[in-house]
Parts: sequence; C-alpha cells; structure tokens
Amino acid sequence: MCGVLGILGNIPLRMSRELLLLLTHRGQDAAGLLWWENGVVKSRKAMGNPGKIDVPEVSSSQILGSTRYPTTGKRVVSAQDLDAFVGPFNIDGISLTHNGNITNMSSVSEHNFDCDSEFLAERISVHLKSNGGNLPAAFRVLDEEVDGSYSLTGLYQGKMFAYRDHHGFKPLVFGRTKDMTVVASESTVLDMADVPLERDVYPGELLIFDQNGTMESHSISQNSTHAHCFFEYVYFAHPAAKMENQLVYDVRFRLGRALAQSFLKRNLEIPDYVVPVPDTSRPAAQAMAETLSVPMREIILKNRYLGRTFIARSQEERNSMAKNKYIYLDDKITGKTILVVDDSIVRGTTAKMIIATLKKKGAAKVYFAATCPPQTHPCYYGIDIATDSELIASTTDIDSIAEFIGADALIYQEQNTVENAIGLKDLCLACLNGTYPTEHARKIRGNLSNHTSTSNQRDYERDFSE
Ligand code: SF4
Repeated sequence: MCGVLGILGNIPLRMSRELLLLLTHRGQDAAGLLWWENGVVKSRKAMGNPGKIDVPEVSSSQILGSTRYPTTGKRVVSAQDLDAFVGPFNIDGISLTHNGNITNMSSVSEHNFDCDSEFLAERISVHLKSNGGNLPAAFRVLDEEVDGSYSLTGLYQGKMFAYRDHHGFKPLVFGRTKDMTVVASESTVLDMADVPLERDVYPGELLIFDQNGTMESHSISQNSTHAHCFFEYVYFAHPAAKMENQLVYDVRFRLGRALAQSFLKRNLEIPDYVVPVPDTSRPAAQAMAETLSVPMREIILKNRYLGRTFIARSQEERNSMAKNKYIYLDDKITGKTILVVDDSIVRGTTAKMIIATLKKKGAAKVYFAATCPPQTHPCYYGIDIATDSELIASTTDIDSIAEFIGADALIYQEQNTVENAIGLKDLCLACLNGTYPTEHARKIRGNLSNHTSTSNQRDYERDFSE
C-alpha cells in the first residue's frame, strides 16, 4: 500500500507537497516528489511523511509524488535507502510511481530491483525501445508479463499516463480542469486541488493526458474479472474518499450496521457505550450505536504523535506503539459494559492492549467487534501481512482469539455481509478466503503447502526451487 500522485499543470512544488500529505495514511515510511524543470528531471525524498520533503521554491508543470509503505520489509533508514527504495523513479525518460506489489519480478527481468516502481519503469522502457515508442503497445506486453497489483502514474515525453492492472486491486482516480489534470490514489487529493473527480481509472485501462487537458483512453486488457481490494474500504482509504462510486464513509457505516445485527444475534448484554478505536472504525461504531440504541462515546483517544501500528515493522515496535497509542477517558470507564469497535484484528496486539487497559481502569465487561472478518491468509498484493504466522486468525479459532485478547465476547463481521456493505461483487477477498485472483499468487500458495517457512521472509520472495 502506497500513495501515488500525478499532476500535469503548472503549480508550485510546495502545493504538490500539500496534496501529497493527504496520502500520508497510505504510507509514512518515506515520501518523494519528482518534477521536470527546464527539461531536466529532479527529485527530493525524505524519511517519514511528505511534510518532511525539503522542496525548492519553484513551480513545475509535470510532477509525481509518492508516499511509501514498505511492503517487502525494507525499511527506509538512510539517505541511500531513499535513493534505492523510494519513488518516484526516472528510467530512460520514463518517470513513474506506483502502488501495489509485483509478485513475479525475478521471472520477468534479469535485473534486481529494490522497488517495484523502478522495475515497472524499466519494463516499459524495454518495450518502448522495441516498439518505436508506442506507449499502449508497451502496456499490452507489460499487462501480459507482470503478475500482482499495480496502480501507477507516470510522465513520458511531456505527457502524463495512468494505468491500473486489469484486476483493479488498488484505487486510482483522476480529474481535470482546463489548467490541470490530477491522478491520485484517493479522490480527497482532487478535492483539495479544486479539481472535480472525473472517475476511477478502469482496470486494464491506460489513460494518456496532454498539457491541453486532452485525454486518450486505451483498453489494454480484455480481462473483465476485477478484484478490488475490500480492505481499502475497511481500513486503508480515507473515509472521505470515493472509489468505484462508493463513499468509503458510507461503506464503513453499512459495515457497522451489519456488525450490530451479528451482535444482536449473540444475545449479549446491551452495552452502556459503543466505543470506536480511532479513527478508522468511527463510522461503523456510530452505526452500531444507532442500531443498538446506545450512546457512542469516544473514551479512547488517539495519541496523535504516533503512526499507525499496522505500519510498524517489528513486533517489539508494534507492542510499544500499541501501548502508547491511546489516551483513555478514565472517568467514563469504571463499572461500564463497553463495546469496542475496531476495523480489524491482524495480530491481536492492539486489541489485547486496549482491553487490558479498559479492564485495569475498571470496566465491568469489554466486548470487542471487528468490522473486518477474520483474516486467515496472507496478502501478496501490497499489504505487509505476507506470511501466515503474522495473522492470528490463520491458526487460531474465534473463541481462542477472544481469550487471547481478553474480550468477554468477540464479534467479527461475517464474510457474506462484506460484498453487500461495499456494494460491489467483484472484490478481492483473498486474505479472508484464500482465493487469489492471480496465477502467480496461487502458485505461491500451492508451493507453500509443500514447504515449511523457516524465516520471516515474505512468501513471494522465497525460492521454492529447492
Ligand atoms: S488479499 Fe486482502 S488485503 Fe490483499 S488485495 Fe486482496 S483483499 Fe486486499
């Protein structure tokens, strides 16, 4: 998961950095901006969020931006890492940034790449050289040879392009005014830029924009089986983002209503409060509170100076972040039965810490509800839960998870309500049901059943030839 931004239209770099900040929640490991200035490509990168990028006081009419989430386990800790891992990249005049994860790089290219964006730029360059510079033809070959997820935007010969892999795993939207075209992972960027959202880039569609706002659309892949990542709606995206004509806030609200029905089926004591774990689960908690006719109270407050624990790289770091992540309204807890609502339970670290704290502060009972069903399989498409051992639900049944996190009852979203709540049928649910939409990911799963993992290495990085 990363954030991508493309801008065609003259704006100060400082403003492009402001726009990129709206994608910070998609990756706060590092960020980069690339721009063309008097025919020369330039870039600045920084560790942490985009606000740390030291941008010069110049304007450019061709700008790319990237917020990085370290999918392949490589964390940016030095200036050399910034050069190696953090996009956007420029190779042979093709500037590119992407969101997603390529699972078969080593079988496609003889070179080693630290970053998928660099790999994609190189492949496009190879194909452009062999076809005389025809971008749609280059993408047709790319679409055939590459397995995984990739929503990308780039610059080539003064034009901007945008492409989404034919499954459409990751979001990508665009909008245009007469002065500016913006491509971004989330529509909130367009809102801030005052550029009306035109639509999503369709899966398998290549868009090419010129400086006059003219757009060409090329259908690159005829594959009509889409697999939009459901977890974008549950967790990743900003609630104000619109994807596939769905407002993420509305989806989360519907997930909350469905979860309330699951709660009622359990015949549990009605809680005194419904309490969201900030911030992602707030719409779902609101819907649960309305359905159960009990107040929602924000007694768990976020310590705003820490990042998201999901994005922390080690268990030690996650434990420390989970402990310091929240501040509690002690006066509202003693003697109360509390229904805590969170978006998901990945490793169980955060849930366990919250419940222990509430009980220590005097809560009579703590129920825990997750808007996401149990995640039982790793994701190979850009989320850093790439081994089974990182998912508590892959090895543990629901009652044992409840016991582990210390909940008096654990209520999970049911899998069959997810599609209704999202309002789409063509979703990727692979981390819930193990049905991987792409061939290489299925191969990885098949190989895994014959091999035992002995390290923390990501499944798609392992060599199964031994
Ligand atoms: S496996 Fe899960 S997290 Fe990964 S793309 Fe599919 S739905 Fe999203």
